[in-house]
Amino acid sequence: MSELLELTAAQAIDAIRRGEVTSEAVWSAYRERAAADENNSYTWVARPEAPAVEERAPLAGVPVAVKDLFATEGIPSQAGSKILEDYRPPYTATAVERITGAGAPILGKTNQDEFAMGSSTEHSAYGPTLNPWDRTRVPGGSSGGSAAAVAAGNAPWAIGTDTGGSIRQPAALCGIVGMKPTYGAVSRFGMIAFASSLDQCGPFARDVTDTALLLGAMVGKDPRDSTSLGLPEPIGTPSATDLQGIRIGVPEELTGEGIEPGVQKAFEATLELAKELGATVEPTRLPHAPHALAAYYILAPAEASSNLARYDGVRYGLRAGADGDLLHMYTATRETGFGPEVKRRIMIGTYALSSGYYDAYYGRAQKVRTRIAEDFRTAWDSFDFIATPTSPTVAFELGAKLDDPLAMYLNDFCAVPMSLAGIPAISIPNGLADGLPTGFQLAGPAFSENRILDAAHALEQAIGFDGSKARQA
Ligand code: GLN
Repeated sequence: MSELLELTAAQAIDAIRRGEVTSEAVWSAYRERAAADENNSYTWVARPEAPAVEERAPLAGVPVAVKDLFATEGIPSQAGSKILEDYRPPYTATAVERITGAGAPILGKTNQDEFAMGSSTEHSAYGPTLNPWDRTRVPGGSSGGSAAAVAAGNAPWAIGTDTGGSIRQPAALCGIVGMKPTYGAVSRFGMIAFASSLDQCGPFARDVTDTALLLGAMVGKDPRDSTSLGLPEPIGTPSATDLQGIRIGVPEELTGEGIEPGVQKAFEATLELAKELGATVEPTRLPHAPHALAAYYILAPAEASSNLARYDGVRYGLRAGADGDLLHMYTATRETGFGPEVKRRIMIGTYALSSGYYDAYYGRAQKVRTRIAEDFRTAWDSFDFIATPTSPTVAFELGAKLDDPLAMYLNDFCAVPMSLAGIPAISIPNGLADGLPTGFQLAGPAFSENRILDAAHALEQAIGFDGSKARQA
C-alpha cells in the first residue's frame, strides 16, 4: 500500500491505464484505510467488495470520498445532523452522479458541521473530525471530514461544499488543495441546502492537477438546477510553470492585521516566489470586504431559516413528539433534531427576515453583497488574480472556539468575500507555521477556473509543499 499511497489520483489513473496496478487494488487499499480511519473523517464507508468500474473511463476507478450532505441513493445522507440520522435518499446528487459516471466509485461519506454551518466540524452531530497533522486540533470545516480524509491518505480525493469558505478553509488547515468554482459551475441538485445563493460544490485533492481532473468531471449545466451554468471551456490539465505577465493584487483589507504572524509570513514568502516566477504583485483595495462577514451572517442564516423549514418530522428523518398534536410534533422534532449552531442560525435568519426588520438587515446586507461584487469587478481592471491567506490562523485546538461563535465566524474572514461575489477561488498548501499547514488563496473573475488552476500549478511547483507527514499515522 505505501507505494500506492504515494501516488496522486492522476498518477494512480495512469498506473491503472498502463496495467501496473488494478483499480480493484486501488479500491481495496483505500477502502481499508477509510474503514480504519482514526480521525472520525467518515460517517459511512462502502462495503469491501470493489464495485464494478470501467477502467477506461476518465477516472479509471480511483474512488472518491463524498461529503455527507450530498444525496446518495440508498446511502446515509445526514448532512452532519441528527434530524437526518440514517436518511437514505431515493436519488443521487448530480455532482456525485457525474463523478461516478466518469468512473470514480463512492468510497465513503465524510463528516461535516451540521448542515455545513461551522468551521471546525465540532458542530457535527456525529462528533468532531480530528486534524491528521495534530489530533488535538480541528481539521477546519464545514467539509472537514473530506479534507482530513484526503490529507491522511484515507481517500485519494474528495468533494465538499463551500458556502462561505467550507472547502478552502479546511483545505488550508489540512495542507491540501481545495477549490470553490464559480457559483453555478457545478449543479446543486441533490446537495442538501444551506444557503442556496452561495452553496457551491468543489474538489479536494493532494495537488492542483488532481483538483482540475476532479473538477472537470463535475462541472456543467444541469436541467435539474436552473442556477447551474455551462463553463465557456472544459477544465484543462494545468501545466504552467511560470507566472509571466500575471498581475496579482493583494488587498490591504484581507492581509496583515488579524492574520497570525506565521500565516502572514508564509503568505509573503509565496508572494516573493510569485514575483520570481514573473508575476507583478501590488497592493490593492477591496473597500467593502471588511463588511463581508457581517453581510454573510445575515444572508446565509436568512436562506438557511427558509431551507431548513422542511425538517418538520413529516417528510424526512427524525420524528419526535408523535404522541401529541401536529404543532407539538413539529416543535419536538426540531427541538431534538437540530444542534445549537443550527438553532442559532434559524433564529438569526428568521429575525432578519421578519416584517419591520427585513429592510434594515436583509435588504442592507444584499446591498453590501452588491458592493463587494463591484469591488472585485473593479479589481479585475488592474489584476488577473487577488491573493490572500486562506485562513487567518493555522488549525486551532478542539474546543478553543466552540463557546465563542463570533471567533468561529472569523475563520472565514478571507474566504467569504469571494462567496458573496460568486467568483472562483482556490486554496493551495503554503508551507507550515509552527508545524501546521497554512493556505494561500488565489481568486479570479467568474469562469477563470483554468487560469486559476494554471497559476496555482506554477506556484505549487515553486512552493514544493510536502504533505506526506500527515499520511504516515
Ligand atoms: N464557516 C462558514 C459558516 O459557518 C462557512 C460554512 C460553509 O462554507 N458551508 O457559515
